[in-house]
Amino acid sequence: MSSVSDVVSNLRQSFNSGLTKSIVWRRRQLHALLRLIDENSDDIAEALRKDLNKCEFESFLFEIDFTRNDIVNHLNNLSKWTKPTPVKKTLFFIADSCFIKPDPFGVVLIIGAWNYPFQIILLPLVGAISAGNCVVLKPSEYAASSADLMCKLVSKYLDPECIQLILGGVPETTEILKQRFDYIFYTGNSEVGKIVMSAAAENLTPVTLELGGKNPAYVDWNCNLQTVANRLLWGKGSNAGQTCIAPDYIMCPQEVQAPLVEALKQSVSHFYGDNVGKSECYGRIINKRHFKRLQAILESKTPAFGGEMNEEEKFITPTVLTDVKPTDLIMKEEIFGPILPIMIVESPQEAIDYVNSREKALAVYVFSNDKGLVKKFVSETSSGGVCINDCILHTALETLPFGGVGYSGMGSYHGKFTFDTFSHKKAVMWRTMGMEFLNTLRYPPFTNTNAEMIRRFTKKSLKNSKTSFVFPLCAVVFLIGALSIAFFKYL
Ligand code: NAD
Repeated sequence: MSSVSDVVSNLRQSFNSGLTKSIVWRRRQLHALLRLIDENSDDIAEALRKDLNKCEFESFLFEIDFTRNDIVNHLNNLSKWTKPTPVKKTLFFIADSCFIKPDPFGVVLIIGAWNYPFQIILLPLVGAISAGNCVVLKPSEYAASSADLMCKLVSKYLDPECIQLILGGVPETTEILKQRFDYIFYTGNSEVGKIVMSAAAENLTPVTLELGGKNPAYVDWNCNLQTVANRLLWGKGSNAGQTCIAPDYIMCPQEVQAPLVEALKQSVSHFYGDNVGKSECYGRIINKRHFKRLQAILESKTPAFGGEMNEEEKFITPTVLTDVKPTDLIMKEEIFGPILPIMIVESPQEAIDYVNSREKALAVYVFSNDKGLVKKFVSETSSGGVCINDCILHTALETLPFGGVGYSGMGSYHGKFTFDTFSHKKAVMWRTMGMEFLNTLRYPPFTNTNAEMIRRFTKKSLKNSKTSFVFPLCAVVFLIGALSIAFFKYL
């Protein structure tokens, strides 16, 4: 087996050969990735069932089809996205060609978490390939069946000269992080995010950090609470609450709490039947360590409903805690499990103040029919994204960027944003060799007249509709002046 440094150095050689810059190579790899998904979707679903007891419906919705559609989107748009984008020019550069060329970074590292093991590794990979990079993939060791299958499939379908997957846990990731990469894309918790970022800093390597946090959901009094409960429980129940954008906790006025709890109870029974443990639609906690962490949280408070657990099966039923206080254990860290605490707030302002007193979340959810209140939440809180009157779904639209802010991360991806993440935007100016008489203005010996001319023609004015004719007028005067100089000088 080759060492990590050999793997990276071989990939660097491949990148330097220019192979991945070719659009043909990128298309070929994206098609191969599509085949990887299409020909192995049953095995992928089976691996997800082994790791997380993920049901087929969720596996297809969140992992297989989601990734597949993203690959198709990249294939459909690759020619457009890889083209240089011309930029607006000022008068001085009117005869020049000025554009932004998306350039691959080089050899990039993608580190994934265990909760959506395929999507979290393959979605960034799609963008890394379409942007023309060589890639090292490091899936999470906790979703072992998914990681093993991915390792087998990546080596079978993708170009081994340019794309390599390394299995392992903390020691292997630590070793990988000692290597020099041109970009690092990490998904996982904020504490490891800091480790990744400081390793990247050694080589001034840019990073995207897709982290987690506590996502608040505010529920107003004026909503249909059964609809709210269905949507919240769908977000919290998917993957047994182990979703970075799951609603972490609810805030609502006192009078909303009791009817909301009743509605949530109804939703649980509609979604999973009266015996959740027997439901085909409900997942399991990833491992004993995380089970015990959630168990400790539950033992600190009596639930309003739910609370059944089975350590052997790593099963925890959807559980709601009421009258939770900010000082309670459950409000300390991201829950990442099927427990939904409800905190009473006196007013929407109190909810906003509470959100703003915490680290920034990946998502803020607001359920309300009051447009003014919704706008207040959107403008007065900061988070990776906001979804109003639903949860999670804002990440399903590829035209919206997905990413965090502050402790929930930096950078974004999905759709074209993934291509952009893995592309350096290279500024290119291709000047004409002609019209040298215009350039003499900037050459020594410097004169006051030349300085005055340059300042006049480069001076920016504030936008004002009344003076919007000034720039075109200046342009015409400048052109007439320039042509007159040329006329007298050369004829
Ligand atoms: P994890 O334990 O699988 O860790 C993620 C990766 O980091 C793994 O590949 C692991 O090998 C590596 N790693 C772990 N400890 C390390 C260390 N000390 N040094 C170097 N590498 C190390 O996953 P996790 O962190 O438990 O994932 C859950 C977290 O990820 C939650 O906070 C969740 O919100 C967040 N998350 C965020 C997103 C997002 O898109 N923003 C998506 C999924 C999960």
